[in-house]
Amino acid sequence: MGLRGINIGRLLLAYALLAGLLVFLYSQVAPLVEDPDLVLLLNRGFWFAGLLCAGIGLLLAWSPEPEHTFDQSTAESAELRRQRQYLQAVLDGSPAGVVLVAGDGRVLLANTRMQALFALSEDELRADTLPHLLRHYQFVELWQKAVRTSTAQAVVAEVPQSKRMLRAAVQPLAAELSEHSLMAFEDVTELHRLETVRKDFVSNVSHELRTPLTSLRLLTESLRGGAMKEPATAQRFLTLMETEVDALSALVSELLELARTESKDVQLQLTPVDPCMLLNAAAGRLRLQAERAGLQLAVDCAADLPAVKADAARVEQVLVNLIHNAIKFTPRGGRIAAQAASREGLVEFAVQDSGVGIAAEDQARIFERFYKTDPARNRTGTGLGLAIARHTVEAHGGHIGVSSQVGKGSRFFFTLPLA
Ligand code: ADP
Repeated sequence: MGLRGINIGRLLLAYALLAGLLVFLYSQVAPLVEDPDLVLLLNRGFWFAGLLCAGIGLLLAWSPEPEHTFDQSTAESAELRRQRQYLQAVLDGSPAGVVLVAGDGRVLLANTRMQALFALSEDELRADTLPHLLRHYQFVELWQKAVRTSTAQAVVAEVPQSKRMLRAAVQPLAAELSEHSLMAFEDVTELHRLETVRKDFVSNVSHELRTPLTSLRLLTESLRGGAMKEPATAQRFLTLMETEVDALSALVSELLELARTESKDVQLQLTPVDPCMLLNAAAGRLRLQAERAGLQLAVDCAADLPAVKADAARVEQVLVNLIHNAIKFTPRGGRIAAQAASREGLVEFAVQDSGVGIAAEDQARIFERFYKTDPARNRTGTGLGLAIARHTVEAHGGHIGVSSQVGKGSRFFFTLPLA
């Protein structure tokens, strides 16, 4: 703020007022005075007062002015407010968490996205320092390094409170804002999960291939090494080799099936299908196997169930997989029930067994590709069956799940929409 120069309006007003006042005083006093010396004195006094007032007027006119008139300043502060609102809207609409940090670690600005990324309450979002806001030593260290070295820094780390995987980037600002730095947090949880799945997939396929291939190699070496000359041993080895080749073919066909169900352009042959027909067909294919395993396999299906909209062959395969698993994981003497029941606008299929059950921490993961609860207990099987089942059910617009208790048994269920 400084001297703004003469304000003409104010000067004229001051003069007019003072002139009026002086003329008024003079007109009141002059007629009462008869002594010529006194009149002269009065005249001089009048001019002196005039000059004095003119000086004061000039001073008033030159006095410091506020930078803006009232109207200007309200217009400008409204504009500033709008600009702030724009900035806040842009920041809050951003999919990234954004924090503006001063050189001493004070938080100058944090957008609302930070709340979800760091699981912060409204109060916590208003924390005044970076360590209080983030409560994450890796990210705070990253900011310190960026400030220390005046270079951009980035790191990927998990936030335990929100269980999100975040990529944090710190950018020291330039020119007038060089004391400050901008931190941006991008949610890479899904990317990270996909990357892990991809790595696991490659290592699982390699592992699943390596086991039968190693066995085949050992068996052929043994045959060459002399076993071929003993017909009984040779026969046994050939049977073992067949088993390994079967396992390899099963793996390859399950991988192909998985790739097909996972690809978005899978063509389902959707027709109205009787749920009981699906259950009976699947159970029929496995009845003999269940009997051999000493298990009771029952189908429980009301005759008046509405038809579902399904690709019959694929849904039958899902049921076969579930019943097959129930047979594998239920000790002799156990029971398996394949059921279907009507539920609000859909039909729920279920395969219930009295088998070994699945621990709570495994239940969420068994639908992942290659996931097996206990490799020692379950050497047969690829761990792909439930992944394929999940894709097939979801492609139909349904949902698959499990409830289970270790030692008591499991219940796998899935829903299908009505025809
Ligand atoms: P797998 O070919 O190994 O059976 P799945 O994807 O069908 O592959 O099953 C994944 C894992 O889930 C199994 O290895 C097993 O550990 C567990 N599982 C599946 N069904 C059952 C069940 N009925 N009872 C207990 N565990 C089961």
